[in-house]
Amino acid sequence: MQLVEPYVFMGGTFDPVHNGHLRTALELQQWLKVKQVTLIPSGEPVHRSEPGCSAKDRLAMVELAVADAASLQVDSREVDAHTPSYSALTLASLRQSLGPDKPICMVMGMDAYLSLPSWKDWHTFLSLCHIIAVARPGYAYTADDVMDDFTRRHQIESTDMLWQQPCGAVMIHELTPLGISATQIRNLVAQGKTPRYLTPDQVWEYIKQHQLYGYQRGDWISDAN
Ligand code: ATP
Ligand code: MG
Repeated sequence: MQLVEPYVFMGGTFDPVHNGHLRTALELQQWLKVKQVTLIPSGEPVHRSEPGCSAKDRLAMVELAVADAASLQVDSREVDAHTPSYSALTLASLRQSLGPDKPICMVMGMDAYLSLPSWKDWHTFLSLCHIIAVARPGYAYTADDVMDDFTRRHQIESTDMLWQQPCGAVMIHELTPLGISATQIRNLVAQGKTPRYLTPDQVWEYIKQHQLYGYQRGDWISDAN
């Protein structure tokens, strides 16, 4: 049986990227024993309200966050596309770049996984990739009938298949639970509080420098925190 190292990626708005994303990506890289995990920030997200800052800023923050992490990298294809970021299009584009035999694993938090039936062309995803759903505090596995059936039909327990087949399986994986969200960070900044230690210092510095999310210097935020 031929084993091919999977291409593992995590998409998201990353508005901004935080340690929940980064730790998830790093733990998956170690667990799957792959060289790298790729973060793909969305250009124009389709399933949610307008992000709190531009695609250029969100991409820049992800680039800063992974700059010194050899096992994490960024792919800017969704931002560069300047079109609505549908995962079906991204998967087709990745499949085109990587060829038919390369396993592709799309990583998502449990909230995203459970919402899959609302994603455009979601039924085609498993013909293009494997899906890895990771536990996320606050989002228990409470699948509706559609997702329960989908999970039961495709779920595998061992990572072997991720190296043996290019697509078609679902894995659900528990890792260090970090109850951090980008919403929490945007709210803290807007309230004049620091998000330090929830996101890398380089990201926080970028937020301050570019005055994102309503940032203003005040009593609780100074250059020191
Ligand atoms: P927002 O609050 O703006 O929705 P978010 O923190 O959910 O931001 P997203 O960019 O929406 O971040 O999420 C990108 C991907 O990362 C999704 O698949 C999401 O489920 C996952 N994710 C986000 N935060 C965590 C976390 N703390 N642990 C595990 N997965 C996470
Ligand atoms: Mg989210």
